[in-house]
Amino acid sequence: MPAYTPPLRDMQFVLHEVLHAVDALKACPAHADADIETLNAVLEEGGKFAAEVAFPLNISGDHEGCTLDKATHEVQAPSGFKAAYQQYVAGGWPALSCDPEYGGQGLPFVVNQCFYEMLNSANQAWTMYPGLSHGAYECLHAHGTPEQKKTYLAKLVSGEWTGTMCLTEPHCGTDLGLLRSKAEPQADGSYKITGQKIFISAGEHDLTENILHLVLARLPDAPAGSKGISLFLVPKYHVQADGSLGARNPIFCSGLEHKMGIHGNATAQLMLDGATGTLVGQPNKGLQAMFVMMNAARLGVGNQSLGLTEVAYQNALAYAKDRLQMRSLSGAKAKDKPADPIIVHPDVRKMLLTAKAYAEGGRALMSYCALLLDQEINHPDEKVRKDSAELLALLTPIAKAFVSDNAWTATVMCQQVFGGHGYIKEWGMEQYVRDARINMIYEGTNTVQSLDLLGRKVLGNNGASLKKFGKLVAALVEQEGVNEKMAEFINPLAYLGEQMNKFTTEIGFKGMQNPDEVGAAAVDYLRVAGHLVFAYFFARMASVALKQIATGSQDPFYTAKLQTARFYFAKLLPETAMLMRTARAGGASLMDTEAALA
Ligand SMILES: Cc1cc2nc3c(=O)[nH]c(=O)nc-3n(C[C@H](O)[C@H](O)[C@H](O)COP(=O)(O)OP(=O)(O)OC[C@H]3O[C@@H](n4cnc5c(N)ncnc54)[C@H](O)[C@@H]3O)c2cc1C
Repeated sequence: MPAYTPPLRDMQFVLHEVLHAVDALKACPAHADADIETLNAVLEEGGKFAAEVAFPLNISGDHEGCTLDKATHEVQAPSGFKAAYQQYVAGGWPALSCDPEYGGQGLPFVVNQCFYEMLNSANQAWTMYPGLSHGAYECLHAHGTPEQKKTYLAKLVSGEWTGTMCLTEPHCGTDLGLLRSKAEPQADGSYKITGQKIFISAGEHDLTENILHLVLARLPDAPAGSKGISLFLVPKYHVQADGSLGARNPIFCSGLEHKMGIHGNATAQLMLDGATGTLVGQPNKGLQAMFVMMNAARLGVGNQSLGLTEVAYQNALAYAKDRLQMRSLSGAKAKDKPADPIIVHPDVRKMLLTAKAYAEGGRALMSYCALLLDQEINHPDEKVRKDSAELLALLTPIAKAFVSDNAWTATVMCQQVFGGHGYIKEWGMEQYVRDARINMIYEGTNTVQSLDLLGRKVLGNNGASLKKFGKLVAALVEQEGVNEKMAEFINPLAYLGEQMNKFTTEIGFKGMQNPDEVGAAAVDYLRVAGHLVFAYFFARMASVALKQIATGSQDPFYTAKLQTARFYFAKLLPETAMLMRTARAGGASLMDTEAALA
């Protein structure tokens, strides 16, 4: 049976010693009274909820899955999920970082992000029920009409109702311009929506009495393609003027997907048979409104991946210390035992350290992104808000794709540490691998994230956002370049920063001659960019650790951090050389292959 301990010390290190989150938050009037003690206390309590309530349901939820009653179209989540959700609501957790105007606690997003990392480690499938509601809340908060906000927001904030995100149809996933669901305007200003949606996470369940579906559909006169998509709010049950629930809206679950992982989350096929909805945002501008939810969800997927990386690492580490196999190549280490624990073997250590480095780099990146979101929304200075938004937009595809690709590698490596015991169900490791796999696919596949990064966020604005991140790297290089002890971190970071500029310009030129060159390089490009970001954060973390050690700290945490940073720079960062080489090999070997792919 796996175990989970919330990584509170590392969270506190990232928040308080590396990012100085409280100082950044205090500059925002909404968080002027932020303080370290409150943030830590909330995370400690959140960690208890994750470890004690959500975690014990992870394996049972995976075994049991969700069940659909075909006669009533109602779905039952696995045993215990509803009670855990009620506890979550009773504890006020859904309201953590929501607007006080709608009953929220108004805490920073960065706190919610850390709390959700722990929930995802504990139970990704369960966490998706409240997680999607949060995205729906953000979308309605940004684009809802005053009437919609009044009727629905407080219910999402309290957690009494959950939300979903209904984009995908059988014939359209990545290319939403193909979607066919129709919305017919009604005399009373509402719309009747007809169509089929598939793969809708938390699309039907028994955790709450009502579900708010955010549905993309086309108006009758809509232009073809993605410019003709509108967004509608379609509640499972109508809401009456006094706030009570009215008649059932005809949006029904017609089937549940049988899938590789996240069995505890209901992935629903939904039929809309003239379901009544109200427009969110402007007609034909639905994708713009939905992007608020999609961006939140993309960061959420990075966070899911971070959670799985952390929990897989914790369990693999414990197992490697306990499992005895063979002797160390450099002589017996546990002479009193018949064999050494497998942690003595270099490759086992490599697998463990890879997962640890991916978890710690991912935590720094995800927390930084959440802090940028806090600044984008709440900072009084318009320039800070704008810069934060721009950096966050650049980092979002990296947070989604780099962290989820790493989580796949990390969970597979942690499974490998268990040998054959990782492959069987008893130890819980194969579930982490299965659960991690979806994170590379949904919310826009990782290929699509790489096109978004390279095509839109980098080349689309002539590298302006990338230069903003480059300035952060340059400032760190400038500040730490004189410190000899930092040379092992700063030199490769500075080198990669320079390489990145040349690499980007090269792809940009090639792309102007042949756009397929961008598509051919994008996935490699995103991984190089991800490593640049991780190298930046590992250098910052190493700098803090070195300073603590220099001032006499005996806390082994700092030595561990330094060793992890050294491992990252020595063993993981060099992947960038290979990635740049394969990207530079260009698109011809992919595209001039008619015979090979005939
Ligand atoms: C468990 C699960 C939960 C989900 N939850 C939700 C949800 O809550 N709401 C929702 O709306 N959807 C949801 N989805 C759908 C998910 O977001 C899509 O599956 C995903 O976006 C990919 O779409 P697709 O499956 O149609 O693949 P396709 O779009 O058909 O893509 C197939 C392959 O082609 C590649 N490809 C496509 N276009 C390009 C391109 N331009 N360049 C390069 N490669 C390309 C893709 O990367 C992929 O490898 C979920 C899916 C699953 C499996």
